[in-house]
Amino acid sequence: AQTPVKVTVTGAAGQIGYALLFRIASGQLLGADVPVKLSLLEIPQAVKAAEGTAMELDDCAFPLLSGIEVTDDANKAFDGASVALLVGARPRTAGMERGDLLQANGGIFGPQGKAINDNAADDIRVLVVGNPANTNALIAQQHAPDVPAERFTAMTRLDHNRALSQLAAKLQVPVTEVKKMTIWGNHSATQYPDLYHAEVGGKIAAEQVDEAWLRDTFIPTVAKRGAAIIEARGASSAASAANAAIDHVYDWVNGSEWTSAAIPSDGSYGVPEGLISSFPVVSRDGRWEIIQGLEIDAFSRERIDASVRELEEERAAVRQLGLI
Ligand code: NDP
Repeated sequence: AQTPVKVTVTGAAGQIGYALLFRIASGQLLGADVPVKLSLLEIPQAVKAAEGTAMELDDCAFPLLSGIEVTDDANKAFDGASVALLVGARPRTAGMERGDLLQANGGIFGPQGKAINDNAADDIRVLVVGNPANTNALIAQQHAPDVPAERFTAMTRLDHNRALSQLAAKLQVPVTEVKKMTIWGNHSATQYPDLYHAEVGGKIAAEQVDEAWLRDTFIPTVAKRGAAIIEARGASSAASAANAAIDHVYDWVNGSEWTSAAIPSDGSYGVPEGLISSFPVVSRDGRWEIIQGLEIDAFSRERIDASVRELEEERAAVRQLGLI
């Protein structure tokens, strides 16, 4: 039988963790023939709740789940891990300054990066979900000098999926008809969902919708969808975030067509090297590759630059705070 793959989930007792763990254990993260071992990392006060989730995982008798550990020790949690889903983060609370937010998250993602560096398996792949996800991924990466930089990624797949579904609804086509969607930049309100390369029925999406809808409805609806969910549900999106995390890792491991992921920039499209920014990507042979050669019109250029500028500011701020 195949050796189980160790998957570590941080913030395992949280909302997203609860929506994620059962799907990982059922085989949806890596494939229906890959046994998994789960490691649940939590802060000490949430370990008991994570143990409760572990009990429920036991009670599902998942054929592919070969073991579960629950711990508050990052070295133990990442020991031998091949996939790390970094979900736990310090959320922004009312009145919190950006510096305080980055500082608090530096205290989480720096040590986790080091623990990954020192303990994870050679094929470790890291997806950061906890916000500010792109910069948290950068912090973790900078504390893991022995791990190839490209193994640190951040999630923009939920934004991507939201964009697919908004466009499909507008054009009244199934989501599977929408191809070549791209989210550029930061997973934040500045992100740029690009319809100038997306295609529906083989034709450019931007040419099938009016410009006012694209600018004033589509872009803000995608970028602010998280807030709309909170408003409607009384709680932030969890199942859809977990679903996107599954999509990202499944595609990374198994290959994909055109999708979006935040990966370290190699300087493509004028995005400064090293920033973890969302790009149009394909996954091939277990690696993300940026789709090259796209023409960027003036409107898109402006939007991409604004989001990338925000990422540069976040990087400058964490440098100044000594977090990287
Ligand atoms: P959630 O599980 O709802 O969210 C976790 C993180 O995911 C948040 O930072 C959230 O950012 C982020 N996120 C990213 N994308 C989305 C999205 N589309 N929708 C919603 N959230 C998104 O948070 P909970 O508070 O329920 O749980 C967090 C858990 O993490 C707690 O159990 C806590 O104990 C744990 N934790 C663990 C740590 C560790 O393992 N060392 C460290 C810190 C916390 P945002 O809030 O900005 O939406």
